[in-house]
Amino acid sequence: MNTPTLPPRTVRLRLRMWLLGLSLLTTLPLLVFALSVVWEFKEFQQRTLVEQLERRSDELAHTVAEKLHSTLGTLNALAESDAALALDAPGLYLHAKRVVARDPDIRAITLVTQDRILFLTAAPFGRTDLPVSAASHVATALRTQSPNVSGPFLSPVSPIQVVALTVPLAREGEATYALRGILAVDSLNSLVAAERLPAGWIAGIADAEGTVVARSHDAARYVGKPASASFRQGILSAGQPAPFLGATLEGTPTMNLVRPVFGFDWYLGVAVPQTILHGPLTDMLWHMAGLGLLWMALSVVTAMAFSRYLLRQMKAVAHAVDGSADPRSRPVTLRVSELAAIAEQFDATRRSEAAMRGDRDVAVSAREQVQDLYDHAPCGYHSLDHEGRVLRMNQTELQWLGLPLALVQGRAYSDFLTPASQQIFQDRFPQFMTEGHIKDLEMELLTASGEAMPILISATAIHDAQGRFVASRSTVFDHTEKKRVQAQLERMARSDALTGLSNRRDFYDKAEHEIARSRRSMQVFCVLMLDVDFFKKINDEYGHAGGDDVLVQLAQLLVAQLRSVDLPARIGGEEFAVLMPTTPLAEAVTAAERLRLALQTTPVALRDGRAVHVTASIGLAQWGPGDADIEATLKRADAALYRAKAQGRNQVCTED
Ligand code: GH3
Ligand code: MG
Ligand code: MG
Repeated sequence: MNTPTLPPRTVRLRLRMWLLGLSLLTTLPLLVFALSVVWEFKEFQQRTLVEQLERRSDELAHTVAEKLHSTLGTLNALAESDAALALDAPGLYLHAKRVVARDPDIRAITLVTQDRILFLTAAPFGRTDLPVSAASHVATALRTQSPNVSGPFLSPVSPIQVVALTVPLAREGEATYALRGILAVDSLNSLVAAERLPAGWIAGIADAEGTVVARSHDAARYVGKPASASFRQGILSAGQPAPFLGATLEGTPTMNLVRPVFGFDWYLGVAVPQTILHGPLTDMLWHMAGLGLLWMALSVVTAMAFSRYLLRQMKAVAHAVDGSADPRSRPVTLRVSELAAIAEQFDATRRSEAAMRGDRDVAVSAREQVQDLYDHAPCGYHSLDHEGRVLRMNQTELQWLGLPLALVQGRAYSDFLTPASQQIFQDRFPQFMTEGHIKDLEMELLTASGEAMPILISATAIHDAQGRFVASRSTVFDHTEKKRVQAQLERMARSDALTGLSNRRDFYDKAEHEIARSRRSMQVFCVLMLDVDFFKKINDEYGHAGGDDVLVQLAQLLVAQLRSVDLPARIGGEEFAVLMPTTPLAEAVTAAERLRLALQTTPVALRDGRAVHVTASIGLAQWGPGDADIEATLKRADAALYRAKAQGRNQVCTED
């Protein structure tokens, strides 16, 4: 399985660059939009400002004009008074004094000719040594016979800046005298005071020569001095007032508007510092720059985060598709539904493939296991067709036979049985086919080496739907060991444990067989009975073990001295019987005599090294067809034995 890898570095880089570019691209229209808003704002602000400037300068010019006209009205009224018409200077002085007392804006009223003062209300009547200030304006007023207003000058009687509004007193088309209203510059300053203006704005009044008459800021410093170049330029085009850029006396860049004060040679100027104009704009731009930067930073961070997320998703898809897991990475949940679905599909396919593989493996392995079990079971298996031919056989049974499958398949099963078992097979197979089963049938295999191997067969028949025999399914058990044990048990049951000779039971069975055989063959046989003489003494002298030794060796002697067809048996403690087939009594007597002699002459070696001489008494009887069973014959033999004992022992007696 491949180890899932992250997209190569270039892909990651490209993805990030794309996302970065995308995020910056989204910033661009926003920036354009913001700039257009700023531009619009600037335009709007400028328009508003211009409107405000026009309105405010108009208002101020109007206020100043009103002030001058009101003073002019007062002076005109005074000029029309009786005292003025009669040129009654003292009367006019008193009248003027009253007017001044009433109107606080008028600091003083003076009656002047072109070159002298006739009176000044601010000074006692009769004081005529005072100079005529702004005399040119008096001359102009007398010449034109129309009122005018002067520029600022220092009051001859008090240290304040004042202006004079001169009204000629016309007499029959000629003017020699003029009345002047003296206005304090301060009262004019208050008309354009800073409080009347928006913050930062500057307003001022200048006369036709461009001299500052009043000012909203720093009046004391600038009044009487030439106005700024911008103001003076504005005065030149005051006929058609329009805002223009300039600078104040302090040098502050401003937007200016200069208007004439209606009816007089004065001009009103209002200046708005460009900082006020540009300040909010600059602030706005700064804010926007900040916001833009924040936006960019955010979009970059978002782009990075998104690219990271996308890469993780790609990785997750790769893992899901590949089916592996990166041990270093935390588990990632697929967010994009399509990708998740694809990954899930891959996963499901992979799982089902694995499951199918697994199933197949399991099935293969199960089949192999079954085959293995079949072949190497501790018992043989085979199947036979309806003719008893081998269809299949497992390895175990083949090994028993010592043959390969190729030499067995297709051959009759009976070929691999001993002749006796072949007979059994022939007898039982047709019956098995109809009955359908057989249980624990004992037979013998004939192995390749020619040995007979006892087996136990159980089988069931397989029939088709029509009930026809298809095959046998046979289980074969190795019966060798069981047979051996059986035979051993059989032997044990029939033999004497001490001597190994047949026991009483075996003797009786064999004798019955012999009787049957003798009846068939019309022959006779004899029975010999032997009892050790004075055996008690032997036991007494040599112990029970010594007695046993004698019995064992006596048995060996019997076997050695008798014919192989004879059957010696131990039928009691120290009593033996011998079945002597096809032996007439005379022959039996000879054999018995030989036996008695052999015993008498052969010392018995005991286990403790001593030797003992033993004798035995023997009785013989011949079976005849008249004997119903062996018991009758044995009785006669026993009777003969009894006589042998009685007659002195160590001798052979026959039946009467
Ligand atoms: P007799 O000549 O009259 O036969 O004298 P006996 O001493 O042999 O007398 P009997 O035949 O009646 O005695 C049999 C004795 O044999 C009795 C018993 O103690 C002994 N005996 C029986 N079976 C065994 C055996 O298996 N081992 C030994 N050691 N002794 C046995
Ligand atoms: Mg006895
Ligand atoms: Mg005895």
